[in-house]
Amino acid sequence: MVEELTVVGLVAMATYARRVAVDFAVTSHGKNPWTQKAFFNCLQHAHRMQAAIKLIGGKINVAYRCPEVNAAVGGVPDSYHLRGLAVDIHPGGGLSAESASRKLYAAACQGSLGNVRTVIWEPTWAHIEWHDPEEVGPPAPPRFLKKTTTGYEVMKP
Ligand SMILES: [Zn+2]
Repeated sequence: MVEELTVVGLVAMATYARRVAVDFAVTSHGKNPWTQKAFFNCLQHAHRMQAAIKLIGGKINVAYRCPEVNAAVGGVPDSYHLRGLAVDIHPGGGLSAESASRKLYAAACQGSLGNVRTVIWEPTWAHIEWHDPEEVGPPAPPRFLKKTTTGYEVMKP
């Protein structure tokens, strides 16, 4: 069955896109202009990001970062935040960064959060990122990393 695109549906989509554009580009580091590609990626993954946020009763810290903001916060140069494919979540519901990250990783392994690339246990938050749909390669299971003072440690589930 083909669903007809109605004006109501179109307005709902536009409202949703606007919410993603505003909510998912929040930073405390000034202007953060979207690239078209990153916005498209983020829009496609927004429902997965929201599912991840809900899973750990958390609050979004940031999803998209433009190169200037990414550099200002010391993000890695190839950060998935630049592509609109990552979200940082401050856990709620009494969860620690570790327990929240483990919960996200378990859900990612079950496939309930889509095509997750990596979950990172950060000092006070959880980072989760999705595979870039434009990158070709064999399907890979999600990775679980812990941010350390010197880099990243590969975690065992
Ligand atoms: Zn992050």
